[in-house]
Amino acid sequence: MAEGEATGVADAVLLAPLTEDTFLHNLHVRFKRDVIYTYVGNALISVNPCRPLPLYSADLVRAYLARPPYTLPPHLYAITVTAYRWVRDRNESQCIVITGESGAGKTEAARVCLQCAAVAGGGGGERLAAAGTLLEAFGNAATTRNHNASRFGKLLEIEFDFKGEPVGGHITHYLLEKERTCSVSEGERNFHVLYQLLAGADVHLLKRLRLQRSWEHYRVLRGEALDAALSPRRSPAPPRAAPPEHARDNEHFAFTKAAMASLGFSGVECGAVLRVLAFVLKLGNVQFEPQHNIDGSIGVRLEQQYELVEACALVGVEAAELAAALGAPPLSHRDPDAEEEEMARSEDVEDSVEGEEDGEGSAEWASALRDRLLCALYSRLFTWLINSVNEAIKPAAAGKRCSLGILDVYGFERLARNGLERLLINYAAERVQAAVTGATLRREQDDYAREGLPWRPLRYADHEAHADLLDAGPDSLLAALRDARTDAAFLQRLQRRRHPRLLPDPPDRFQVVHFGGAVTYCARGIVDKNRDAVSARLSAVLGAAREPLLAALFAGRESPRRVCALACRQRALVAALVRRLGPAPRLVRCLRPDAGLRPHRWDAPLLRHQLRSQGILDMALLRRAGWCESMCARALVARYGVLQGARGGPSASASPRASPAPRDCPLRAARALLRSLPIPSAEFAYGRTKVFIRSPRTVWELEALRSA
Ligand code: ATP
Ligand code: MG
Repeated sequence: MAEGEATGVADAVLLAPLTEDTFLHNLHVRFKRDVIYTYVGNALISVNPCRPLPLYSADLVRAYLARPPYTLPPHLYAITVTAYRWVRDRNESQCIVITGESGAGKTEAARVCLQCAAVAGGGGGERLAAAGTLLEAFGNAATTRNHNASRFGKLLEIEFDFKGEPVGGHITHYLLEKERTCSVSEGERNFHVLYQLLAGADVHLLKRLRLQRSWEHYRVLRGEALDAALSPRRSPAPPRAAPPEHARDNEHFAFTKAAMASLGFSGVECGAVLRVLAFVLKLGNVQFEPQHNIDGSIGVRLEQQYELVEACALVGVEAAELAAALGAPPLSHRDPDAEEEEMARSEDVEDSVEGEEDGEGSAEWASALRDRLLCALYSRLFTWLINSVNEAIKPAAAGKRCSLGILDVYGFERLARNGLERLLINYAAERVQAAVTGATLRREQDDYAREGLPWRPLRYADHEAHADLLDAGPDSLLAALRDARTDAAFLQRLQRRRHPRLLPDPPDRFQVVHFGGAVTYCARGIVDKNRDAVSARLSAVLGAAREPLLAALFAGRESPRRVCALACRQRALVAALVRRLGPAPRLVRCLRPDAGLRPHRWDAPLLRHQLRSQGILDMALLRRAGWCESMCARALVARYGVLQGARGGPSASASPRASPAPRDCPLRAARALLRSLPIPSAEFAYGRTKVFIRSPRTVWELEALRSA
């Protein structure tokens, strides 16, 4: 053991006895000494210190590169360097999967892994780091749980050439929580970049964009949309808590601009992005009020019309057409035919707005259309940014190479308001959790049984069954969502399912018991939100914008009944992700020691909950009783056969069986080979076709012997 008593045990598998209490105590002992990393076999636990610690440097990366990781304390660098070596030396693509609740430190860990991989690969990686900065500005926001919460999931794949140098990369992103664009809960913020722009733009830029400096001026940043949504009859809005810290927005705007420049965005492109952001802010201020017309009918009146006119002028959109498409008359006459068409296309808004016949209903309908447009616009801008970033980081020459994937998937979360998007976020977290824990526990134990190893099966929480409940088969939650035509029908489907983890709560709520806890979701408008369509008329108006970027975001008519809705898209992406992870991803499990992310706090019940919900102890028990890696005997002989006879050692000299075994019996050959090496024989177990290796250290020693 590299560390002394005072810092506990570096690999929790070695704890005796290994229980939840000893496991937690060990983490705490280490945490108090600022030792935030601990192994569980070949997985790494990282406890968020909630303050900067001097744990990272290029020199330290080089130390991990130079020595076998088990001779150094546990670190993210050890995991990354090992994955890197596997890519470089074994030509195997690798994936580091970082999991944990919101605020546990996944994004920070992903950043450290990327920096480490860049140093390991001999430098470079500036563009990949810039991509991270840019996507955080556009895709992260302060929530009540984390001041820099990722509102999207990302898989960064770093590609290496045959020399092991990084040549580029690719980012896959998972559903952005786009509803935040128009609806911010109490004590939370919209996406960082919107505040950054206001705080960081100089007066000339602000003037050009027709923006005001103070973020309080913008409804989508103040978050009144939520108040309006919660009180459709316009009761006075409740007082709101002071929003979180905005202090560094100014500075961060400079980082965001620098990141765009280093990714090769042109001045024209940057300008276009800023104009689209200004358009979002200003259009968000446009309000619709019911109005009594002269003929006695009730119509819709536009408030803050100047914002609409200015916003449209920025991006070259016809203000009158946009107003008409949103259903407000003052800038043009209402066109009853077009309106009817609009109604037909957005049944969902209709469903969710009561009193459709009166002016208030129409005003709300217009507001809902505006909000939906803002969300669609922002998420399309985000997708466009990712595509542009991918162009910028694409490897110069085509060719199949190995990649090192770093997955920073969203953390399980339960916020004040949970709708479709939160459901899809928690679904992705649940599926990944199932893949890395439940599937591992099942697969490895099945393997032991199939190979005939002596094994007493472990009991464990069945995360796979939980995830299946959400996405597998015609009775799953996502299937019900796909098939239902109304929210009520969706809830009825759940009711018929009668599953203790899926609990409908009519008229407009349902509860799902996830691996991380129970979450109550709002079902109001969920079927429509899942359809995720923007009205054809609005698309046409924005698609005709003179600003090429905006026009491109709305180019092409969408069919109102798109085959693949939001949930369906997320499900397909997550399925592809799980396939990409493969059977043996490298795991980093992040834990948050304090709900408020305050340093030096240790909330034992909170940590215990995370250990349990993520099946961390189950994995530790599996590693303790089982093996960390298995290899086909044939593959093992092919890889390490060169060692035979080339080495001396206590077991080798004592073994008369060091001579080559018959080729047709790989298992006997493997046994003979391993006995000839200076590694204790208890480190290996032999099944019918596979050799099982007890500890990660042995895997390393084999590699070290081979490269010596
Ligand atoms: P989410 O799921 O909400 O995106 P997350 O797991 O990605 O959450 P992070 O944003 O990485 O969480 O971490 C939350 C905050 O905790 C960071 O902004 C940082 O202040 C702090 N933090 C996390 N990891 C570390 C670390 N290794 N060292 C110092 N501070 C850290
Ligand atoms: Mg994050």
